[in-house]
Amino acid sequence: MSRVYNFSAGPSMLPEAVLNRAASEMMDYEGSGQSVMEMSHRSKVYDGIFQSAQALLRKVMNIPENYKILFLQGGASSQFAMVPMNLMTGSGKADYVLSGQFSTKAYKEACRYGDCKAVASSKEDNFSRIPVLDKKEFRPDADYFHICMNNTIYGTVWQELPDTGDVPLVADISSCILSRPIDVSKFGLLYAGAQKNVAPAGLTIVIIREDLIGEPMPFTPTMFNYGVMAENDSMYNTPPCWPIYICKLVLEWIENEVGGLEAMEKRNVEKAQLLYDFLDSSKLFNGCAEKDSRSIMNVTFVTGDPEMDAKFVKESTAAGFVNLKGHRSVGGMRASIYNAMPREGIEKLVAFMKKFEEENL
Ligand SMILES: *Cc1c(COP(=O)(O)O)cnc(C)c1O
Repeated sequence: MSRVYNFSAGPSMLPEAVLNRAASEMMDYEGSGQSVMEMSHRSKVYDGIFQSAQALLRKVMNIPENYKILFLQGGASSQFAMVPMNLMTGSGKADYVLSGQFSTKAYKEACRYGDCKAVASSKEDNFSRIPVLDKKEFRPDADYFHICMNNTIYGTVWQELPDTGDVPLVADISSCILSRPIDVSKFGLLYAGAQKNVAPAGLTIVIIREDLIGEPMPFTPTMFNYGVMAENDSMYNTPPCWPIYICKLVLEWIENEVGGLEAMEKRNVEKAQLLYDFLDSSKLFNGCAEKDSRSIMNVTFVTGDPEMDAKFVKESTAAGFVNLKGHRSVGGMRASIYNAMPREGIEKLVAFMKKFEEENL
């Protein structure tokens, strides 16, 4: 068996310990005589998995008691609609910061449901940094203020949260959830597709402050109603059973093997630093994100010559470093180095890049 170093932006690598554990439990989960994929979601044995996944997420992320955890489907993209349908019900206004493609999609979707305002954008700078904010643009009567915390395509991250006063802060944390501790109490709502750092595709995690769960817009589908999902403990219908189980294994890995989110952050910062230090010293490769906005999860870089970029992608793939091609909309390269990417993968990538530079400069 030979495994590649997979730098995909998502779905992405899972910890080998988790894959091995899932494989060992595949045919007979804890003496139940069945795999987790085959179980009734209402069975006692599955309920145990579900409850411990929720409890572990609360523990690892230090989620306060007045927040509900929802395990939904539909991806982060469904939240682009679900958030406004449920939250834009007071003044009917919401403020958005445009820091990349996903936040722009979220904004455009929300515009269908109410009065949305783009209060800042870094589009003019090709989204190479988090936008500069002007608080005068914020609307104090907005129902919420939306940001995308880590911009997966551009490799930028919010280093400091915007001060939105009493307006609830809503954040898409799809590509940085579980990468470092975050103070959940600073947010009204957090959401994430699981396929970057938590589990296989199919699970969407929503963490919502209880007082924000109310009556959604009248046309809201039942499946898009946070209240219904919360009342039914995410079991209104069949939840994404298998990804929730893998989520539990990933959380156990973070808790027991890594040592929690502070230790996870230390690992991730060191991993990213290896790559950024090399990019800063390289004569061939350049990092794309401004230094004060650099993400520790997605590292974007170019040579400045699309043909050289293509050559690098081809040769790195052949050498076992896969999915380094940048997003189809921006080109260049992107190394997504989520929690499960071992340090060794980055050390080897840097060595490969050094060699490539020597051969091609
Ligand atoms: C991947 C990603 C999305 C899209 O997620 P889906 O689950 O595919 O809908 C949205 N936002 C961010 C920040 C992402 O990284």
